[in-house]
Amino acid sequence: MAYKSDIEIAREAKKKPILEIGAKLGIPAEHLLPYGHDKAKVGQGFIDSVQGNRNGKLILVTAINPTPAGEGKTTTTVGLGDGLNRIGKKAVICIREASLGPNFGMKGGAAGGGMSQVVPMEEMNLHFTGDFHAITSAHNLLAAMIDNHIYWGNTLEIDTRRVVWRRVVDMNDRALRQINCSLGGVANGFPREAGFDITVASEVMAILCLAKNLADLEKRLGDMIVAYRRDKSPVYCRDLKADGAMTVLLKDAMQPNLVQTLENNPAFVHGGPFANIAHGCNSVTATTTALKLADYVVTEAGFGADLGAEKFMNIKCRKAGLAPDAVVLVATVRAMKMNGGVAKADLGTENVAAVKKGCANLGRHIANLKGFGVPVVVGINHFVTDTEAEVQAVKDFVKAQGSEAFLCKHWAQGGAGIEDLARRVVELADKGSQFTPLYPDEMGLFEKIETIAKRIYHADEVLADKSVRDQLRAWEAQGYGHLPICMAKTQYSFSTDPNLRGAPTGHSVPVREVRLSAGAGFVVAICGEIMTMPGLPKVPSAETIRLNEAGQIEGLF
Ligand code: ADP
Ligand code: MG
Repeated sequence: MAYKSDIEIAREAKKKPILEIGAKLGIPAEHLLPYGHDKAKVGQGFIDSVQGNRNGKLILVTAINPTPAGEGKTTTTVGLGDGLNRIGKKAVICIREASLGPNFGMKGGAAGGGMSQVVPMEEMNLHFTGDFHAITSAHNLLAAMIDNHIYWGNTLEIDTRRVVWRRVVDMNDRALRQINCSLGGVANGFPREAGFDITVASEVMAILCLAKNLADLEKRLGDMIVAYRRDKSPVYCRDLKADGAMTVLLKDAMQPNLVQTLENNPAFVHGGPFANIAHGCNSVTATTTALKLADYVVTEAGFGADLGAEKFMNIKCRKAGLAPDAVVLVATVRAMKMNGGVAKADLGTENVAAVKKGCANLGRHIANLKGFGVPVVVGINHFVTDTEAEVQAVKDFVKAQGSEAFLCKHWAQGGAGIEDLARRVVELADKGSQFTPLYPDEMGLFEKIETIAKRIYHADEVLADKSVRDQLRAWEAQGYGHLPICMAKTQYSFSTDPNLRGAPTGHSVPVREVRLSAGAGFVVAICGEIMTMPGLPKVPSAETIRLNEAGQIEGLF
């Protein structure tokens, strides 16, 4: 049987006017700021007015260590939201916005897949409501003000060799990773080495996603460290007086975007920080607003649960005072096989033994998540190539772990294919959780890294040079010791070796470098190669993207 492509399905969507979707959540028309007919921002005044409402239940969707294609977390988040609505619950989903640049390298979207998508999917993957443009502008305003300050005499005594604030653009462009700027003579400033990151890697993005409101946003922007002096003392964004103007540029971008699923249920799509050097979740404002408006809020964390869920719990929930009521762990038979040692090319062939072997990965994620004091249920995202015996092997394994797995066919059937899981999630979430983060604020920074490595990755030890340990101690002395850790490591393994699949033990976690995101409010521990400006492949998808005679986009998905 031939299946329609994601884009074909999305184009056939029977969308409702966005004002109707807002009405489902009780948002009056005058508080929706429409961008066309199918997208709107939710006004800040309305958000302020619902703060007294009771919170709905928060459900996190996360996954086992993935295959390179992703395991369908977004697809399952969208499907579960539709499933909850189908069984009569008032539910809304919260997912991230997509970065524009990567679309022109390889095909792929961020709006879910099959019959579980949010629309308008093309716009969501391109310019959308301009949030990333605003973030890029705010970020680069600060960069311009730094070089301008140096040009006009540098009264802050910025060491031009120690400017840590780079520039950003939403494009995969490896040529910009390292550049020399201010070339061309005295009128152009003082030449120095600089570079670009992709917009989603900007600390401004992380801040927009963690800030509670505009005042909090402005404070956090001011707290960002942009450079150091010769005595190594930090220069803050606030010292350059850029925080006010940056907040002006971000004023509209701070308001959550409302769109709809294929089944006309409300979906917030807001913010999209990197999942390695940042925390990889949609914005706090979208999640907290959704909780005020719906009884069930389904949200997604990037990468596997060892990174995504860990950061969701220890960074986002801790900072925003949120507590998940239930967790859905997405597993796929093909990822289980891959974790069981099968090569990517052989994933289509039945292999129950490999599935059973790969279940070790699933088992560890279940145990880890239970350690946060939240109920966990497994959603098997069904692929048409899965065999009954393979699916049964996963179900049996999960049962033996004292948990439950549900076969979910939302990709093929939409919300109707995921009702069983939706019912169970309601039962679990209604009981509530005893959520506790993994470590207390007061724990030392290095000890926090060790706690994550030992308790989540099951590593024996953390390896770090004296310089890394000294840096962490220096930050503790400067008052940053209470911050949570943002781990940056491969998503394909519990270890730092992407090829070490399953549930490895006895490994070491080498921390090569640490970075302080003082405005976002976390310390990044870098374990391995981390790319903050991607490149394009040899044959980028941009070569085949075009508009056809009907004005439709071809080649994007
Ligand atoms: P993640 O959020 O985990 O990265 P996505 O939900 O974005 O994953 O899905 C990744 C890709 O896999 C998408 O192109 C989606 O259409 C596809 N996909 C997801 N679930 C299924 C499924 N059950 N069968 C076939 N393709 C799927
Ligand atoms: Mg996703």
